[in-house]
Amino acid sequence: MSILKNAIETRKILRTNQGLYPTFIIYEITKNCNSRCVMCNIWNKEKTTDELNYIDIKKIFSQIFFKEVKYLNLSGGEPFIKKDFYEIVKEFIITLDKLNMISVATNGFLTNKIKNDITEILKFIKEQKKNIKFSVTVSIDGPSDIHNKIRGVKTAYDAAISTFNELKKLSEQADNFTVGIETVICKYNIDNIEEIYKVHKKLTSHLNFVPAIYSSFFENQDLDFAIGKEDLPKLIKFYKHLIKETPHLAYFYENAIFFLTRYYRNFPCLGGVLTAKIDSQGNLFPCLMTKNIIATKNEDYSEKWFGEKMNQFRNKKGDICKKCLSNCDMINNYYYEFFDVSRYYATHPIISLKFLKIILKDFLKGGYYALMISK
Ligand code: SF4
Ligand code: SF4
Repeated sequence: MSILKNAIETRKILRTNQGLYPTFIIYEITKNCNSRCVMCNIWNKEKTTDELNYIDIKKIFSQIFFKEVKYLNLSGGEPFIKKDFYEIVKEFIITLDKLNMISVATNGFLTNKIKNDITEILKFIKEQKKNIKFSVTVSIDGPSDIHNKIRGVKTAYDAAISTFNELKKLSEQADNFTVGIETVICKYNIDNIEEIYKVHKKLTSHLNFVPAIYSSFFENQDLDFAIGKEDLPKLIKFYKHLIKETPHLAYFYENAIFFLTRYYRNFPCLGGVLTAKIDSQGNLFPCLMTKNIIATKNEDYSEKWFGEKMNQFRNKKGDICKKCLSNCDMINNYYYEFFDVSRYYATHPIISLKFLKIILKDFLKGGYYALMISK
């Protein structure tokens, strides 16, 4: 019932140019990175030194603006490169009262640090008796030679696999922790994508395949990595296969096919409405894909979020979003926008039945969906 209530409220707000207090925060914990990926220029920039530390986090995230935050995505750069990663996450756990889920994507290079940070975080969540799910996805883009070429580091694959294996062991000991694999699809691995899926499927059921995109966030407009038109049918065929195999992600894959074939986004995004991004220096943005600073770390985020500049962004959102395939806050579509997701599943009964089976199985184990619905 609360999902329906949220959905009605969100729909009402989407018709206006106003926002709500965000439920989903993308926090760029650092701009620095130890990878050399072919589809990204973040690593190529000068090192950022004036990033927030855990003391700043406590101060900034105590603002009323964060009172509804349930989902926190820690992005980068490479998040685990941050020395005080554990202390920062600890502050989030203490400060964000309604926090339900923390997700992090990593290149997996720093196996020991990643393992130690996560062990400490899981211990802390338990001590605090908080009902918070923690999920990590390790980026693996193919077999060793292809992955190392894409990531620009000779030892990238071995490190990522070793991290994945260590985290898998942790996930077997903690019900609230999952580890998955995310694969970025680009021109260097499109020919191997079915084979990559087969290999990764044996390692985990938490898999995600996203096309490499051009965006100001990755500062990659001048790079050459995109899948060519001639390879698009391969990607579409692969996504059609995934729709059957991973029904919980079918909504996104179906919309990705639409986007790739008709060149515009046909599904809602709650960026700037219920999702916000904060960079490592404390600047607030409407979403991951825009470079317009709404508030700096010394300003009142709520005042700016509900102010004129943001209303203008929301007013123009339709046009900006048409060219964007971002799915980083997809959970907000499932739990807050809801109507478009339910329309999709209602019109695809076989996929819905498979999805329901997953939910039921997971619910009985007290896993992900149970945790979401219980909040
Ligand atoms: S894509 Fe991610 S891991 Fe690769 S260089 Fe960019 S920030 Fe680092
Ligand atoms: S669709 Fe893209 S540009 Fe539009 S709000 Fe969402 S993330 Fe931002």
